[in-house]
Amino acid sequence: PANHSQSRDLYQRALKSLPGGNTRTTVYMKPFPIYAASGAGCRVRDVDGNEYIDCINNFTSLIHGHAHPALIEAATKQLALGSAFGMPTESEVELAELLTARLPSVDHVRFCNSGTEAVMMALKAARAYTGRPKIAKCEGAYHGSYDYAEVSLDPTPAAWGGNAPVSVAYAKGTPDNVLADVVTIPFNDVEAAVSLIREHGPELACVLVDPMPNRAGLVPADRAYVEALRQVTREVGALLVFDEVITFRLGYEGAQGLWGIDPDLTTLGKIIGGGFPVGAIAGGKKFMSVFDPSSGKPALPHGGTFSANPVTMRAGLAAMKLLDTAAYSRLDRIGTAVRDGINAAFRKTGVAGTAVGLGSLLKIHFTDRNVRDYRSAYLSEMEAKRLAVFTTRLLNRGILVASYGLMALSLPMTDADVDTIVKAAAESLEEVAAFG
Ligand code: PMP
Repeated sequence: PANHSQSRDLYQRALKSLPGGNTRTTVYMKPFPIYAASGAGCRVRDVDGNEYIDCINNFTSLIHGHAHPALIEAATKQLALGSAFGMPTESEVELAELLTARLPSVDHVRFCNSGTEAVMMALKAARAYTGRPKIAKCEGAYHGSYDYAEVSLDPTPAAWGGNAPVSVAYAKGTPDNVLADVVTIPFNDVEAAVSLIREHGPELACVLVDPMPNRAGLVPADRAYVEALRQVTREVGALLVFDEVITFRLGYEGAQGLWGIDPDLTTLGKIIGGGFPVGAIAGGKKFMSVFDPSSGKPALPHGGTFSANPVTMRAGLAAMKLLDTAAYSRLDRIGTAVRDGINAAFRKTGVAGTAVGLGSLLKIHFTDRNVRDYRSAYLSEMEAKRLAVFTTRLLNRGILVASYGLMALSLPMTDADVDTIVKAAAESLEEVAAFG
């Protein structure tokens, strides 16, 4: 096995100044995380000099891999001109123009610094626009750390209740008032979702949906489901908010292009920052007008010291310009190759499981259940063990994947890299089969 002594030492140091030695729950690993030193293309090197093919890509945000020359140039050029101003810059206009040109549902864009912030501001925008207090979101779907958005992120089976999920706090200390203002709907269940939305209709500001929610299984929403959400939100006068923080990497016009849906508001993040912190709220002019300060205090004031900072904007522009339709076709091809390769290995080894997802995103489920939503994706103890064996064995073979089985591919990956990933996954699955 690889030497990780420098990582172990760094973690010991980190324990003294960071809670549990950690800054992001998502990157914590037992007994200690592996510390990154550098990255180039699809490869990262850790502080002990071990090299990995990076299938995490900073949790889907790096679609061009690490240290892409065009992104380095865009960011460093801007750094030399100043990294942040108490004034707007041309860069925010340019990135907004690019996004409005790509997303048919979007007239106006508002930048912030993370996906969490984008979702928070979209929910507040929906409340400001409608004058209503409640939001609806799907059970098990992750939308960042805003109190309302994280309700029912990971309820245990004991808290599931029947077909109409109850709202369950994610963080300790979540006020009951927050739970009362969140309607949790089941993903991919048209009848139950529509009926809950109708029931709370007059109080509902918006329905927040990620059409391929990573934590709820990374299975694409049925077309009928998103169409039903589109229709019933119009019926009850609530806004439909698409969270495309991740799914914008699925296609040139994002998930909304693939599903053929016009949401009222869209949240963006990750890839649009070219590797720098970013978020954006985007949508139709009339909805986005809640932010407009040109005729006095807006319905929804919004600042942000680093919102639309030009380093992020310039790197984001460079990243998005490189993402032409040919780039998306390439990502679709390599994503299909990895999914097909892993599914073939599942069949060959006889291990129950499947690789799901679309485009450059995939997730491994160690089950033969038909995964359709949070509950069917919920891991049994044995499935969790198999997943842990699989991801650890992949890591030993130099392939970095998220601990919960998510893989995000990137454009610098060559066909040879794709073969290496599939081969390592197949060998790791053989070890899972031997493990039992
Ligand atoms: N929405 C979705 C769908 C996400 O996946 C994430 C982050 N993984 C967020 C929102 C929050 O984004 P950030 O981590 O930039 O705050």
